[in-house]
Amino acid sequence: MKTTIIDGQKISQEIKLEVANETKSFQDSYLVTPSLAVILVGDNPASSIYVKNKEKAAIASGMAGQTINLPSTVSEKDLLQIIENLNLSKEIHGILVQLPLPIHISEEKIVQKIDPIKDVDGLHPFNSGLLSAGTPRFIPATPAGIRELLLRNDSNPDGKHVAILGRSNIVGRPLANLLSMKSIGGNATVSLCHSRTTNLKKITTNADIVIAAIGIPNFVTEDMVKENVVVIDVGINRVKSSMTKRGYRLVGDVEFESVKLKSKAITPVPGGVGPMTIAMLLRNTLQAAKLQCG
Ligand code: NAD
Repeated sequence: MKTTIIDGQKISQEIKLEVANETKSFQDSYLVTPSLAVILVGDNPASSIYVKNKEKAAIASGMAGQTINLPSTVSEKDLLQIIENLNLSKEIHGILVQLPLPIHISEEKIVQKIDPIKDVDGLHPFNSGLLSAGTPRFIPATPAGIRELLLRNDSNPDGKHVAILGRSNIVGRPLANLLSMKSIGGNATVSLCHSRTTNLKKITTNADIVIAAIGIPNFVTEDMVKENVVVIDVGINRVKSSMTKRGYRLVGDVEFESVKLKSKAITPVPGGVGPMTIAMLLRNTLQAAKLQCG
């Protein structure tokens, strides 16, 4: 069986180009440049790289992007005030607070402070509520990117059994809502699995599509999937490696080499889901600007 290695880098470039073209015609019509503000609290190296990439990608698509760097000692009150100012600014269409936040700041309070019409991460309860109701506005970027990867790789989830591993608010839970929705790229029968799921293997070996978002390196092994499965690996895990200068390498939640042999299609890590997240964030930012311009 020939396995398709799903090229998230290539598909994300296609989407970025589509967004850049749409941004150009939006600017021409409304004389407004969609603008994204990303707030980074502290100096977590991984978060700093993600934020820099988001700002760079926004600018490359013809949008305005700015990063607001705050020390890890910033108070919750000050952060709430900064968000309030961005909510009121006519110049800013999308606001994203890079998670995780230091423990003295409540993520829940911060996410709920963002004006839902600027919530391009789609995490505000108003937007997650719309998604649960089957009428989404901003779909969180990673689940939106996964649906796009499936659709653009001849793996429409319609009518399929999809096993999702992980029930986080940013990936597993919204993804389950999205793929089970009555719409294009939906209509799947979804098993949302988590750390308390019993007989996980029984569920995954019955699934046509397996999506792993748990954060455990190489967790999904070839005995956990059936022949001809489509596998989407969301995990990004650092494992020690003497082979790289950095001293680590990135691996997913799926044991790629063995699972690949049974798969019809599979995403690699890196180069699979990761690049899609930024592309879908840009799409949400453009949508936010359109909504705010009526
Ligand atoms: P999380 O870390 O918040 O939670 C992990 C989830 O895995 C929980 O819901 C838990 O119930 C589940 N889990 C843990 N052990 C399990 C087990 N033995 N069996 C089944 N489920 C189990 O989840 P997250 O924030 O969605 O992150 C998951 C992974 O995805 C991480 O590696 C993260 O870095 C990665 N991630 C990647 C992107 C991307 O753009 N590619 C975006 C977000 C997260």
